[in-house]
Amino acid sequence: MPRGVSANERGYNRGRGLSIVVPLHNEAASLARLHEQLADVAKALAAKHSLACEVVYVDDGSKDNTLAIARQLTAQALDVQVISLSRNFGKEAALLAGLDHARLGAVLFMDGDGQHPTALIDSLVGHWLDGGYDVVYTAKAHRANESVTRRILVKGFYVLVNWGARTKIPEDAGDFRLLSPRAADALRGLPERNRFFKGLSSWIGFRQIRIDYQPDQRAEGRTSWNFRSLVGLSIDGLTAFSVAPLRIATLLGIAIAFVAFIYGAQIVYETLVYGEKVPGYPSLFVGVMVLGGVQLIMLGVLGEYIAKILYEIKGRPVYFVAEHAIKLASEADRSGDTRTAAE
Ligand code: UDP
Ligand code: MG
Repeated sequence: MPRGVSANERGYNRGRGLSIVVPLHNEAASLARLHEQLADVAKALAAKHSLACEVVYVDDGSKDNTLAIARQLTAQALDVQVISLSRNFGKEAALLAGLDHARLGAVLFMDGDGQHPTALIDSLVGHWLDGGYDVVYTAKAHRANESVTRRILVKGFYVLVNWGARTKIPEDAGDFRLLSPRAADALRGLPERNRFFKGLSSWIGFRQIRIDYQPDQRAEGRTSWNFRSLVGLSIDGLTAFSVAPLRIATLLGIAIAFVAFIYGAQIVYETLVYGEKVPGYPSLFVGVMVLGGVQLIMLGVLGEYIAKILYEIKGRPVYFVAEHAIKLASEADRSGDTRTAAE
């Protein structure tokens, strides 16, 4: 196994149940409240669909006491797994760690900062169990509260990444999503290391449905994304999912060559017919600058793809687990007795 032992090989039961995967990076302030809410959701799901639930907290190298708080959480209405990664690997890696350790079949991903309303879980589960959907993803209903620049950049990203693609990544889809057992297995089976969850979970196919909602404000703390890391994620997503930048290079090359050809023909014509002298250096200079610039940009684009190839062939694990603990809720009423198994 390239990514270590899969949950399947650990002999876990992937029966009818729901694993809720929550990546945590410095979420000490909101964790306890989230856990209470999830326990309520689990009770409701057990009553309504007789669905067993677990939550998989993945501590992604937090600097605050997120891990200490996570260790204390009790497994009352749902099983609790706490996985601590050996350092901060980033959200996509944390999601994969959670997916690998999820034991109960269907997998729900949600953020630990309170922006993904737990109240929506019931409807996501309904679409899976009653509607028969495999991928229930949520999308921002609108981006009215975001700056114009950000909206233009986001739009541009989706145009590029979906350009000529057979499976389009839905615009504005977030990481708050539910995967049926077979969709989760499909996602687990993908070999690549460069994980772009939004893209991959639409790429796998099956029956998908979009739910619009308005994310809440962050309950506590600050987002860990800044402009630079968002640009990084976009470049990763683009190069993982699309060859559009390479095609643009080709098209741009053709366009520039075409313009140059027309311009050259015009000069020859004017020289022959009117005997005009060829205009001097400024035009030459501009031409050289434009070509040089375009070539440098396209070399950079090529470099991005080559870096991706290097990253994939190195074959390093996406994350390392430093610590893993499971607390099981008792079967009787899924409350009380907590057994602890440390790895
Ligand atoms: N997160 C993580 N590792 C990171 C950064 C973030 O696991 O390196 C988690 C974070 O704790 C939260 C989720 O990913 O649960 C989303 O992060 P954030 O709220 O910063 O992103 P935003 O909501 O602004 O997209
Ligand atoms: Mg957030």
